[in-house]
Amino acid sequence: MFEKLGNAFSNVAKSLGEKELKEQDIDENLSQLEISLLESDVATEVIDKIKLNLKEKLVGNKVGRKEIEEFVKKSLIQNISNMFDEAGSFDLLEKIKSKIDPQDPFLILFVGINGTGKTTTIAKIANLLQKNKISVVVAASDTFRAGAIEQLREHINRLNLKLVAQNYGSDPAAVAHDALLYAKSHKVDCVLIDSAGRMQTNKNLMEQITKIVKVVNPDLKIFVGDSLAGNDTVSQAREFHKHTNFDGAILTKSDADARGGAAISIVAVTKKPVVYVGTGQEYDDLELFNKETFLETVFGKPTPEPTPEPTPEPTPEPTPEP
Ligand code: GDP
Repeated sequence: MFEKLGNAFSNVAKSLGEKELKEQDIDENLSQLEISLLESDVATEVIDKIKLNLKEKLVGNKVGRKEIEEFVKKSLIQNISNMFDEAGSFDLLEKIKSKIDPQDPFLILFVGINGTGKTTTIAKIANLLQKNKISVVVAASDTFRAGAIEQLREHINRLNLKLVAQNYGSDPAAVAHDALLYAKSHKVDCVLIDSAGRMQTNKNLMEQITKIVKVVNPDLKIFVGDSLAGNDTVSQAREFHKHTNFDGAILTKSDADARGGAAISIVAVTKKPVVYVGTGQEYDDLELFNKETFLETVFGKPTPEPTPEPTPEPTPEPTPEP
């Protein structure tokens, strides 16, 4: 996972470590870094921030040549870590558990375009909630895409859960509202709402989502994006965020992601956290996103601070035999 991104960062750290630091060298190395980051799907505006931050720290800094490599690595880690911190984080299960109320089920709306793994992700979340003793009903509010309802139904049947659905072409907000009424009358804790996802620039689609939000007022809106789709995922996230102001993201297929740039970019661009990552095709293949694990995967384990050698206790002189 994320080899490409890791290499991009470690190459710039190494190459800067090999030279006397002049502004020209720094610029040259940072443009190498830029190319590598672009290849790792990091969004341009995020690359600019990373470069600027690193340059500010390097120019005029009196770090010895030997320490430069470590210094650059630490600066990069700090910078990326700050981006994740700025987006904050939340615990989905805790959020739901803190609001268990039979009259007021917890509503989660999933947004994102088709083919990213949205249906599978909804099923994975349903499975996770079920395992945590949170009862679930699912709303098939993608009434647009042929096959979407059947596809969702197949997963939901497999999990032995209830799907609330109407016909294709019906109003997605009405389906979500039906599911909400079902949850209230059956004392179900949580409603997961699918939504149609064509092109993120499609005006009707965004209006449909806005209507669902108005009608059922979800507690959380989650964007599902494909980590393999690179900059496309970032522009989808940007567009969906503009229209829905989602609360967090789930990145699918991170098991197959060699680049790793999508997580950094989405978080930096939307200032919203990645809450889970999909790690395979099974329902249990869903992991909490963890900043430390991500940074370790990209940069390797942090090098421990050197501990000073302990000074040996003086051995007492042997007292001569009387
Ligand atoms: P949708 O059109 O967005 O609803 O996409 P689907 O849920 O049907 O997923 C598309 C394909 O991606 C399916 O073959 C899924 O099994 C696969 N998929 C979904 N999530 C993951 C994941 O985290 N890892 C891997 N390797 N495959 C996934």
